[in-house]
Amino acid sequence: MIQIQNYIDGALVPAVNGRTLDNYEPATGAVYSTLPRSNADDVAVALASAKRAFPQWKALGPEDRSKYLQKIADGIEARLEEFARAETVDNGKPLWLSRSVDIPRAVQNMSFFASAIRNFSSEAHPTTDNILNYTLRQPIGIVGCISPWNLPLYLFTWKIAPALASGNCVIAKPSELTPMTAFLFSQVCIEVGLPAGVLAIIHGLGAEIGSAIVDHSDISAISFTGGTTTGATIARNAAPVFKKLSLELGGKNATIIFDDCDFEDTLKTTVRSSFANQGEICLCGSRIYVQRGIYERFKNEFVERVKKLQPADPLIETSKQGALVSKEHLEKVLSYIQLAKDEGGTILCGGNQVFPEGRCANGWFVQPTVIEGLPYDCRTNQEEIFGPVVTIQPFDSEDEVVQYANSTKYGLATSVWTSNLTTAHRVAANLHIGIVWINCWLVRDLRTPFGGVKQSGVGREGGFEALRFFTEPKNVCISLQPGGSH
Ligand code: NAD
Repeated sequence: MIQIQNYIDGALVPAVNGRTLDNYEPATGAVYSTLPRSNADDVAVALASAKRAFPQWKALGPEDRSKYLQKIADGIEARLEEFARAETVDNGKPLWLSRSVDIPRAVQNMSFFASAIRNFSSEAHPTTDNILNYTLRQPIGIVGCISPWNLPLYLFTWKIAPALASGNCVIAKPSELTPMTAFLFSQVCIEVGLPAGVLAIIHGLGAEIGSAIVDHSDISAISFTGGTTTGATIARNAAPVFKKLSLELGGKNATIIFDDCDFEDTLKTTVRSSFANQGEICLCGSRIYVQRGIYERFKNEFVERVKKLQPADPLIETSKQGALVSKEHLEKVLSYIQLAKDEGGTILCGGNQVFPEGRCANGWFVQPTVIEGLPYDCRTNQEEIFGPVVTIQPFDSEDEVVQYANSTKYGLATSVWTSNLTTAHRVAANLHIGIVWINCWLVRDLRTPFGGVKQSGVGREGGFEALRFFTEPKNVCISLQPGGSH
């Protein structure tokens, strides 16, 4: 049994209280490792170490910090297959996906911010009356990074890379459901000689270790990705101490398909945008709106393709769909399928739990499910399910579909499919949303602002947005007037 450990003060250690939690393999439903059940005592040890490390880490400067980040990127890349397998066993996602998306993107996150920090600069505001203002961008100090289970190492590194690059010391907490690759990551940090205290990775429950990080007055900023309800709790707890916050939260994304789309391309990508990673990506489209002229044809061909996505052991190379992350999440997804039926929806395909033969007979698998016949404002179409479940619905006019798309409390992402450039631009402008993809989905340039509006979040990640979040701007105003008469 693997015993995952915390990474504190440059070493791998158990929780101060010695307690552990079981860690499950979703594909088998069995416990395969343990993780520390840490609490505020572990945060206290990590903070003492971070305070010792901060002055030197800050003073190191972008070039040298960048080298550490790049070494970490190289260290992960050198163990890519081991990381990919670990991610799949821990999360349930297909191995090919971990190998081709999750782990390469974690490597890219580290190396992107290794480069970005060397190109980051701040503003100067010279004036005509012999005054120069310039902005210093300094690290905040010690910051907290809290990440979810759906893209474990991918989202973990997406936060800690800019935080470290900017010169902060970081106390990071991965999801208790998927701690394994963060543990491997801490091994890489030790291998490359990251100075002790610069990064701590502390494992445990959100309500225990997550809230201990949020509540601590010496942690000056929190970057959080996870559910909207958790985000609201964090915002409430952080507000009285005026902690800087970045919140990347839930979504209920629309896929808008016009009659004049490239049919084959739209069909192929919509299967992926609906069911990639078992639908457990905050950017997956879970409400598909198809214009009336192609509705029946699109629906029929879509359902035929979705039926081919049978869940199977994620370690098998041909597996198209893996397991859901936990028994609790499986039950939540199944309860939404029942809700859809209760609301009058028709299941066009899927709808059931699956029990593959062999080692995965007790795993947490659900068939990709397509539901028709529900109004846009019912609960199934308003609440985040975060699983392999989509609804499909026809629309007639552009105004109507924009209203459907904007109708939820979320505002993360939408993909729009049309060959009419004017329609595309107009719809993009009218969506109340953070990210719009036109004739594509999940195409990511790491320099672009990433995040949502409404209850999908506060703030933006990505590129210089992230470096700005993790630094404090300080204005310096100098008089250039001889004699200083200003
Ligand atoms: P979650 O909110 O349950 O947990 C996220 C993290 O927060 C975990 O590490 C958890 O331990 C921790 N946590 C829980 N309670 C806490 C508390 N009171 N204080 C501090 N930390 C706490 O979310 P999840 O189930 O892990 O992830 C799924 C959710 O994340 C979905 O809603 C999904 O849409 C969202 N998500 C959003 C994005 C985005 O970029 N907007 C990306 C991925 C996932």
